[in-house]
Amino acid sequence: MNLPPRRCGALLALLLLAASPCPAQDRPAPPPKRVVVLGIDGADAAIFERLMKEGRLPRFAALAKKGCYGRLATTNPAQSPVSWAAAATSTNSGKNGIYDFIRRDPDVPGRLDLALGSRNEVDGPLGPGGRVGFPALAALAAGLVAWGLVALCLRLFRRKSSAAPAVVAGLLAAGGAAAWTHRVLSWVPERIPKASSNRLGVPFWSVLGEAGVDSIAVEAPVSFPADRARNLRLLTGLGTPDVQAFWGFYSVFTEDPKEVVEPETGGFVDALVFDASGTALSRVYGPPDITLSAEEKAALEREEALARAVWEQKIGVPTSKRFEERVWQHARRASQASCVLEVRRDAAARTATIRVGSGGPRPVLDLPLPRTGPGSAAALPGPGDPAVRWGEPLVLKERAWSPYVEFSFEMNPLVRVKGIGRFWLESAGADGKPFRLALAPVSFDPRDVPSIVEVSWPASFAPSLASKAGVYNLVGWPCLTNPVKDGMLSDEAFIAHARDLLAERRRKLKAAMEQPGWRFLFVMFSEVDRVQHAFWRHVDPKSPTHDPAAAKVYGPCIDEMYVAMDEVLGDITAAAGEDAAVIVMSDHGFAPYRRGVHLNNFLQDAGFQSGGFGDSRSVNQLASRRNFLSGLAWDTTQAYAAGLGGIYVNLKGREAKGSVDPKDYDAVCARIRTALLALRDADGSKVVREVYLGKDLYSGPTAARFAPDLVVGFESGYRVSWQTTLGGGGDRVIQDNPFRWSGDHCSVDPSLVPGILVSGVPLRLEGAGVMDVAPTVLDLFGVPRPAGWDGKSLVPR
Ligand SMILES: [Zn+2]
Repeated sequence: MNLPPRRCGALLALLLLAASPCPAQDRPAPPPKRVVVLGIDGADAAIFERLMKEGRLPRFAALAKKGCYGRLATTNPAQSPVSWAAAATSTNSGKNGIYDFIRRDPDVPGRLDLALGSRNEVDGPLGPGGRVGFPALAALAAGLVAWGLVALCLRLFRRKSSAAPAVVAGLLAAGGAAAWTHRVLSWVPERIPKASSNRLGVPFWSVLGEAGVDSIAVEAPVSFPADRARNLRLLTGLGTPDVQAFWGFYSVFTEDPKEVVEPETGGFVDALVFDASGTALSRVYGPPDITLSAEEKAALEREEALARAVWEQKIGVPTSKRFEERVWQHARRASQASCVLEVRRDAAARTATIRVGSGGPRPVLDLPLPRTGPGSAAALPGPGDPAVRWGEPLVLKERAWSPYVEFSFEMNPLVRVKGIGRFWLESAGADGKPFRLALAPVSFDPRDVPSIVEVSWPASFAPSLASKAGVYNLVGWPCLTNPVKDGMLSDEAFIAHARDLLAERRRKLKAAMEQPGWRFLFVMFSEVDRVQHAFWRHVDPKSPTHDPAAAKVYGPCIDEMYVAMDEVLGDITAAAGEDAAVIVMSDHGFAPYRRGVHLNNFLQDAGFQSGGFGDSRSVNQLASRRNFLSGLAWDTTQAYAAGLGGIYVNLKGREAKGSVDPKDYDAVCARIRTALLALRDADGSKVVREVYLGKDLYSGPTAARFAPDLVVGFESGYRVSWQTTLGGGGDRVIQDNPFRWSGDHCSVDPSLVPGILVSGVPLRLEGAGVMDVAPTVLDLFGVPRPAGWDGKSLVPR
């Protein structure tokens, strides 16, 4: 066998590693000059080891040869936010408070929220009642000052003879100044949103900074709003919202009426109506308008309810539904700031020219709606409005991503939010294909982020990276997995976008490493995870959405992402220096997601739950109604499922409508566990590998209130269904996963989806888990471990 030397070396290294774990040292080594932790979301041990064996990860192999490689145990459940929160704070969910993507509130039956953070409102800069007291006083003061100035001028110029004009001039000046001041101050919002993180504990980058180790964390996961510490520069990652305060809200502009439906996962789909010149108008929606008064909000909500009622009456009436749906889609977003989007198509040239307009009136809803007729654009503002300021036209080519387009979401002359987003022109309308344009989730502009959106610490860190690396995305989940899942975006567009994001992250990392003085750096890349979620079907012939022709083109993309990470490792060693200690970790591995399990259907069939799921069969219906588990008969329901694999006992004294007596708690848990372990698929396959008790997994102050009572670990190939995540159900317990989101790890038994650990310094890897990385890094710097950490140092003693 003739292997090239590099491949041979990698293979040898791997064999050596498999044969013996890291060599233990007698004495601890002196602290390294620098330590870098590279986090790769979703890097799977089996794929990583295969690629190492094939010699396609030469830098990782060299790093492992210098130090060590091993599998890294993930958390239970194996979900990114759970695992990264545990890795960052070296604590279990009971202490750090993150159990799942979704958090259920035991006080309110059916209340489910995103688990990572909460959104609250606080008084605006002018304090409580800021629209009345302070502006009135300030206006009075401005008037008096103006009066005084006029009087002083008149006295200086000795115009004593003209008393009457002087009084008039003084009054006019005072009135003008008062009115102007009052108007300007009325633009200051009364209440402003304030995000807070639900993650408790202190992450290790903060511990290091406080201990005097100059630290940088880029794309720090589950750290929004930005962690603060001395000697720390941090940019937030997973968990950072897009400009709509959502976790990745995309838009599609299409002229195909069949497409105008609410996407499964939640995006904005607008039907474009082109006029004779080939021009159409729409809107790009931005943040909630924080300058609206309570009365204005109430009026907009009434209009939305009316628009929705009209649309619902029209369901099933294909000729007219499109227009009514369109009006409702805009009406429901009328309380968000927005920009006007003008689209001019040129089918022959396969291009479209777009212009973005800022300012001008809010979308005006011309209610009552017309009852018939295909889309008149009457409900949208016209382009001729003189208040709209248009940006430069930009020509988009078919099947290519645009550069970042800037948006200025203006709420009033004082309050505006800058955003950036990229367009993909899927079709300019040639060859009989309908016109179709997609917009990736709009990010805050890193050069000009509102101060209440804390994406970096210090606030100057985000713009300083942009000045070196160019403008970049801030959305914590920027990959377009959701539009792919919803069938709204092509694989071609998805992977081109993911490649660009990866290149952008590399530029950002290089800019961070050029910052002076740092000794510790954490950086995370998430494209490996996202591409596996969307493209697993291309490497899994058993996937219900496998398409052999597409698999030929896109099958290699998963390996490509791992190989790209090997290049990132090259960037790191080049910038950090050969003597830097580099540790590479992932939070979990991956498994196929072929069959979805409706846990609530299972609980009903097994007699633990009664009631129904109403007509909420789609995730979007569940999400938009925000009324989860609504059909359940609580007095006879012993348990319900919500989130990605958690089951909650309807326990008296904890749940608002509890029915299970605490003395029966253990017996109910045991019966559910036994029944789940006996669950078989139609072909006789075992579905559940293990069911864990929450009390065995979690300890800490949040466990009693938020921990699931049972955590299901599925066999490979199975995952909790989409509907289950929001407390819904389906037609039967197990169904094919119909979506292109075809690889996963959430709710798969943690033993089946281990992560990886590669270290350039020797470590003891037996029993290593994600919580052990933080104490290891502290140990390398000689920084004492905070009390209450659950992880252990892997540095050999
Ligand atoms: Zn992950």
